[in-house]
Amino acid sequence: MKNAAIVLAGGSGRRMGGDRPKQYMELGGKPLICYCLDTFESSFIDAVILVCKNGDEDFCRREIVQKYGYKKIKAIVPGGKERYDSVYNGLKETEGFDHVFIHDGARPFVSEHTLERCLHYVEKYGAAVAAVRAKDTVKIENGDGFVEQSPDRSLVWMVQTPQVFDRDMIAECYEKMKRDEKRLLDAGVYITDDTMVAKMYADVDAKLVESSYDNIKITTVTDIVTAEAIIKRLSEA
Ligand code: C5P
Repeated sequence: MKNAAIVLAGGSGRRMGGDRPKQYMELGGKPLICYCLDTFESSFIDAVILVCKNGDEDFCRREIVQKYGYKKIKAIVPGGKERYDSVYNGLKETEGFDHVFIHDGARPFVSEHTLERCLHYVEKYGAAVAAVRAKDTVKIENGDGFVEQSPDRSLVWMVQTPQVFDRDMIAECYEKMKRDEKRLLDAGVYITDDTMVAKMYADVDAKLVESSYDNIKITTVTDIVTAEAIIKRLSEA
C-alpha cells in the first residue's frame, strides 16, 4: 500500500501577526513546518506533497527542502484561497497512491503513533481522523449569541489532522465539491475540514482516532508558548 501525505502550508497566518507566515517561523531552532516534515520523513509515509502559498515555492525548495535535506517531498505546489483549495491542489499530485494523509503544517507535534493508528483505521474504514475528546462542555448557539443546545460531552470530539482517506475516494469527492462550490457558498456551507467533504460527497463516515492533546495547531501567539513547553518536555523525555 502506498501512502502520500499532503502538508498544508498555504495559509496566510493572519491571526499570528508578524511579517512572515507562521509556518516558516523558527521554533526551538528550526522552522515550524519542519517538525511535521521530520515526522513524515522518518515514518512509513512514501511521499510528501508540500502545499505552500502561491509564490513561496522557490523559498520552500531552498530554505526547507534543500536546507533540511528532505527526500520524500516529491512536489511543492501552490495553495489556493481557502484551505480546501489548497487540499484540492495537493490531491492532484497524489495519483497512484492508495491513501492520503492530509495534515496542517501548523500542527508540529503529530506523532508517528498517531500516523500508525490512522493507517490502521483507514485500511479498515476508508476514512480516519485524528481527534481528542472535548475537555470543556460545548454549546451550540442560536445564531444570536445565546445557548441553544448542549451536546452530550461524552460524544464531543475536537478534530485535528491528519485526516486520512482512500485516495481515489477523497479525490473524487473534492472534484464534486469544486463543481458544487458556488451552490455551497450561496447556501452558507463552509468547508472547514476534509471529513465533511467525504461525508457530503461519498457518504463516508470517518473513524475518530484518539490522538494527543499535544497535536495542537499553532494559530495565535499564545500557542507559541505552549509549543515551546511541549518541545522542552519532548526533548527531556
Ligand atoms: O487557517 P487554518 O489555521 O485553519 O489553517 C490550517 C492549515 O491549512 C494551516 O497549516 C494552513 O497553512 C493551511 N492553509 C492552506 N491554504 C489556505 C488556508 C490554510 O494551506 N488557503
